[in-house]
Amino acid sequence: MTNLLEVSAIETFYGPSQALFGVDLTVGEGQVVALMGRNGMGKTTTIASICGLEKYRRGSIHFRGQDLWTLPSHKIARLGVGLVPEGRRCFPNLTVYENLIAAARSGDWTLDRVADLFPRLKERYSQYANTLSGGEQQMLAVGRALMTNPELLILDEATEGLAPVIRQEIWQAVRNLKATGQSILIVDKTLAELLPIADQCVILEKGTTVWAGTPDQMTRDIENRYLGV
Ligand code: ATP
Repeated sequence: MTNLLEVSAIETFYGPSQALFGVDLTVGEGQVVALMGRNGMGKTTTIASICGLEKYRRGSIHFRGQDLWTLPSHKIARLGVGLVPEGRRCFPNLTVYENLIAAARSGDWTLDRVADLFPRLKERYSQYANTLSGGEQQMLAVGRALMTNPELLILDEATEGLAPVIRQEIWQAVRNLKATGQSILIVDKTLAELLPIADQCVILEKGTTVWAGTPDQMTRDIENRYLGV
């Protein structure tokens, strides 16, 4: 299998303070990879490093074989990395329709396909994004990322803070995306939802990859050691 994304031994700093001390992870074509770890272990920083929002100082990141070292975030996005950031950012003063169109790049994902995935969004095309519920904003954030036709979709805490019924809608959408062969890197705290859809899991502790394997290989002991509270 070709690796779409290869992150190797990256180290990322915030000013003088080191946050990542050697993160390794790969995402194969069509895979769903779960990036896991307790709070503050470096998941969001890893994602920011992949997307060019924070520069890594050592190590390497390759996307479809291309070295991302010198590339600014907009070029990385254009290569096919679509990010749904923590906190579901959309343009608040644009309508749902405008938000989706603003992001569009040609490819398989069109307005109609996004509307099929999230019928609620279609019902709210003319509504301003800042008038949507949290769950609808998350659907819009995912829809916007899909409209860029990313080869790799990155979801950072996509279900955090949402009502259980809305979380289920988001998880169903993620399962539907996986079924289309979409490659996904996902951070989420709900292991019960995450493990059944993940092909690979990568666990971070204190800015380092400490475990990687399939969900089947994850034991109670590993879960307790690295993910338990
Ligand atoms: P969470 O699940 O809480 O979002 P995380 O695993 O995503 O956690 P990060 O947000 O990547 O972890 O944080 C990794 C480390 O980097 C933490 O020690 C955090 O305090 C630090 N850090 C994160 N953002 C910044 C920043 N902007 N400036 C300085 N330090 C930061």
